[in-house]
Amino acid sequence: MGSSSLLSAVARRLEGKVALITGGASGIGECTAKLFCNHGAKVLIADIQDELAHSVCKHLGPNSASFVHCDVTDESDVRNAVDTAITKYGKLDIMYNNAGIMETAKTNILDIDKAEFEKVLGVNVMGSFLGTKHAARVMVPAGRGSIIITASISAIMGGATPHAYTCSKHAIVGLTRNLAVDLGRWGIRVNCVSPYVVPTPMSKAFLGVNKDGAIDVYSNLKGAVLKPEDVAEAVLYLGSDDSKYVSGHNLVVDGGYSIVNTSFS
Ligand code: NAD
Repeated sequence: MGSSSLLSAVARRLEGKVALITGGASGIGECTAKLFCNHGAKVLIADIQDELAHSVCKHLGPNSASFVHCDVTDESDVRNAVDTAITKYGKLDIMYNNAGIMETAKTNILDIDKAEFEKVLGVNVMGSFLGTKHAARVMVPAGRGSIIITASISAIMGGATPHAYTCSKHAIVGLTRNLAVDLGRWGIRVNCVSPYVVPTPMSKAFLGVNKDGAIDVYSNLKGAVLKPEDVAEAVLYLGSDDSKYVSGHNLVVDGGYSIVNTSFS
């Protein structure tokens, strides 16, 4: 192997891998799908926004990416998404449970109704549970796999986001730890990633945009403003063999924000 082909083999960190990404039609999931494809993975996007997902797949190319409609709260949809990955690509190496929602910006418990609270827990927590369960169904016999869940700095801080969202993201850290112990017996790693505010449709809807159409975000790292690409790089690390001894970990991607600040401002 020449030095240039050796470099490209090293640079393409997911060559030959198959990944399923929930919530891959937009934001962090879309960005991760692109990065995974650039690193040689075959990616199956599972989302409820069919039109958007199809256009993302078209952009990535039919040889790299495809789409399956999947509401992560519906077990038959999740089962079908995993089965589609197997039928299409023959295996599943990486399951990225990324789909998530946030309730409207109500911070007073008296304003929040039960149905709204349950809806957020349903997508963020139950969706991650179902995605992991069905990924494990095919990863356990294979004796390998990497499962990643998107948490948030709301998993380690209070007051940053509404109650159900904060609660759901704290739950993901606990779920990740338990799953890492359970699935570690079969060589499967489970980790979560906790981003600070990233400009995406979700965060823009919650925080609003400034006069330039951008989100005002804060940073402890001088000059650094978090982008979806920065989160995707962390997910790439957790999905690739570069992190082969990392499991049960919450990888916080916040430029140090949560270390210095005890509350969100
Ligand atoms: P986004 O709205 O751009 O993307 C979320 C995606 O999830 C969308 O494509 C949406 O269609 C999909 N989705 C929603 N409900 C679904 C369901 N029931 N089944 C399948 N797909 C569903 O938002 P984003 O900011 O990219 O969010 C991705 C993840 O990152 C979420 O888990 C979110 O909580 C987390 N997160 C976001 C931020 C941020 O600042 N944007 C920070 C920390 C964590």
